[in-house]
Amino acid sequence: TESVQAQPEDLTVRILSLLKEKEKERPVRKVALQFPEGLKRKAHGISEALRRAGYEIVISGEPCWGACDLDLDLLKNSDILIHIGHAPVDERENVIFEYFSQDFDISQLEDAITSIESRRVGLITTIQHVHLLDDIIQFFSDRGIECVIAAGSERTPFKGQVLGCTFEAAKNTGCSEIVYIGTGLFHPLGVHLATGARVVAFDPYTGRTEIPDERRMLIKRHALIEKAKEARSFGILLSKKSGQRREELARKLEVLSDKADIIEIGEITPDALLNFGYDVYVNTACPRLAYDDQARFPVPVLSPQEFEIVCGAREWEEFEIDEIT
Ligand code: SF4
Repeated sequence: TESVQAQPEDLTVRILSLLKEKEKERPVRKVALQFPEGLKRKAHGISEALRRAGYEIVISGEPCWGACDLDLDLLKNSDILIHIGHAPVDERENVIFEYFSQDFDISQLEDAITSIESRRVGLITTIQHVHLLDDIIQFFSDRGIECVIAAGSERTPFKGQVLGCTFEAAKNTGCSEIVYIGTGLFHPLGVHLATGARVVAFDPYTGRTEIPDERRMLIKRHALIEKAKEARSFGILLSKKSGQRREELARKLEVLSDKADIIEIGEITPDALLNFGYDVYVNTACPRLAYDDQARFPVPVLSPQEFEIVCGAREWEEFEIDEIT
């Protein structure tokens, strides 16, 4: 598999030019840099280059998984925060988003073509590959497949872009078959559950094509819901993170049970919850936490919709994947 990562030098050149643009509006001296976990190793190279250009640099040491998780405390003491790796999920003053692009050899998609059943498909991807969409549309068109790409929600500013918490760009294609290009099976599974469409998932890193099957996940979620029905206490997790805070939802869930308390929290980890000892937690932060990280927690961590099922406010047949809209 060929995959080419943008180099720190390219990123530095782009960041410097963005800073020069910003300086036309007002002086910028102290620059805060924030990297998601997978890019933290690039911090030193970029910091060094920006220092040489005369800026005072501070790097956020907090964990970060998305543009929903801006280090706004660090920004309070800096002129500007540069968030690297993601497109914005909301508008923020004095934050520059420099997303990270990764190329791959489009001819690998030949394999995915054999798994596609329709002549017209929705096409979606993650921010890393959005810049390749025009070339991919042409590649498919040359092989007789028409691609539909659609705008998503405010959290996904690029056409065809999806996040693990927002599948609008898939829904808006209106297609009954959708091709997802990106790593992992969470996004395609989410798209399948959110749209009901058949999803063909192509992973550019492994070169593999898969048709995600939701059955195993639903069996597990059903078992957690059944276990949660025995709970004597529920902790509803309300995130402090800039783009994960859903207070209205947390309050709406709280009234469903007199056994539920709201816990405001930054980083949700088993250690952070250990001493509370609730029987079940309800996650209103990043939706992936409940689905992907359940194995790390000793008690059920439910999505808002699953909690509604536990409380009798929703039927199991109305199961929906949680999205931040
Ligand atoms: Fe990604 Fe979760 Fe943040 Fe959505 S809420 S952008 S899925 S980390």
